[in-house]
Amino acid sequence: MDTTLRERWETLRARVDDACRAAGRDPGEVRVLPVSKTFGPDLIREALDLGLHRFGENKVQEIKDKAAVFGSQEPAPEIDWVMIGHLQTNKAGVVARLAAEVQSLDRPKLAAALDRHLRAENRAIDVLVQIKTSDEPSKYGLEPDLLLPFLDELAGYPTLRVRGLMTLAINTTDPQRVRGCFARLRRLRDTAAEAGHDLPRLSMGMSGDFALAITEGATEVRIGTSLFGARPYPDSYYWPEKN
Ligand SMILES: *Cc1c(COP(=O)(O)O)cnc(C)c1O
Repeated sequence: MDTTLRERWETLRARVDDACRAAGRDPGEVRVLPVSKTFGPDLIREALDLGLHRFGENKVQEIKDKAAVFGSQEPAPEIDWVMIGHLQTNKAGVVARLAAEVQSLDRPKLAAALDRHLRAENRAIDVLVQIKTSDEPSKYGLEPDLLLPFLDELAGYPTLRVRGLMTLAINTTDPQRVRGCFARLRRLRDTAAEAGHDLPRLSMGMSGDFALAITEGATEVRIGTSLFGARPYPDSYYWPEKN
């Protein structure tokens, strides 16, 4: 890219602010989570210089590799690694040790594994429950109908501070269907609130669809491409089931 990261960050933040105003919302209500997956330490260092310090990652191995690079620096920068990708239960230990937050909590077994490892680490982390809001056959995420019992179960794990919901919209160019996924997440949040579960955060929207997500109440948009550029790997590497 022939623009600097600072320029892209400022342009992106202005677009997010515009989307908030167009939706009648206060730009202060919507955070950007920079998604640094596939990009190496040099670009992350540039982002740190801009004051960014939370980064979304999709693979446990990448969190491990990057945390090792920055953790060995003197003084080590404060970085919050946020897990946003599908998490295998057998990798919960690494995440419990290194991640500040997990947005892809989508099943009871994973919650139990994270809790066990977090207890061992003497840590508690923020989590978002990832919901399957589209009818695509194999996208990850909890079925919406299972949310309330899952939230009751999570209440038994003090190591997991449940803050909200996360989703990936359907992969289509039809904005109405994309928006429908975001609306579904918001309604689910409202249903949970009626049942006594306060879930203030909605993580939804990416480079291509964040304005729709903001219209439907996103409090956080996860942005990779618009900030860091095109990734060296196709998305099928991250979502193999999409093919
Ligand atoms: C890669 C990724 C993003 C960011 O996608 P872009 O289209 O590059 O902004 C957001 N959320 C998840 C879960 C991702 O894996």
